[in-house]
Amino acid sequence: MNCPSCGYYDSKVTDSRGVNDGIRRRRQCLNCGSRFTTYEQLQPASLFVIKKDERREEFNRNKLLTGIHKACEKRPLPTGTVDKLADDIEAELYHQGKAEIPSTLIGDMVMERLKNLDYIAYIRFASVYREFTDITALKQEVDTLVGSGLKTSASTGQLPLILAEGSGTAASRRRGSRR
Ligand SMILES: [Zn+2]
Repeated sequence: MNCPSCGYYDSKVTDSRGVNDGIRRRRQCLNCGSRFTTYEQLQPASLFVIKKDERREEFNRNKLLTGIHKACEKRPLPTGTVDKLADDIEAELYHQGKAEIPSTLIGDMVMERLKNLDYIAYIRFASVYREFTDITALKQEVDTLVGSGLKTSASTGQLPLILAEGSGTAASRRRGSRR
């Protein structure tokens, strides 16, 4: 790495220690003497996703992020929640050390986390990912969830609200009409 002060290409290492899964090095420029720090980390081997039609596609964090963002749109979640969720999943995927991961597994990981995070976001994601083609399949999923003791509140857990949420304002109207 070139010196950030003068751009000289060579430096000497004055200190080196392991941090997390990388190595932190204190360096001193051999030209101007200024000190800087570098952090080396092993680049994980690339990870491929096996699509439903068996095609392979390189894992794309942005794609994962977009999917989760869409599901969480306008949900009352703290800033950074979605990014953290994507980070967690990415870390876990690389941690598994496999070269290929089925897309269904990634979908399951997202659903598992959304289920604990936000009911509406979960249903939205599930309806896209599981490709619910009719209301019966969607209702079955909801019934399973409710049956499994998932926390539902009057304002977020009712099936009619979920089915109406596509219009966006329906939810607020309902909430507004309740005293
Ligand atoms: Zn320098």
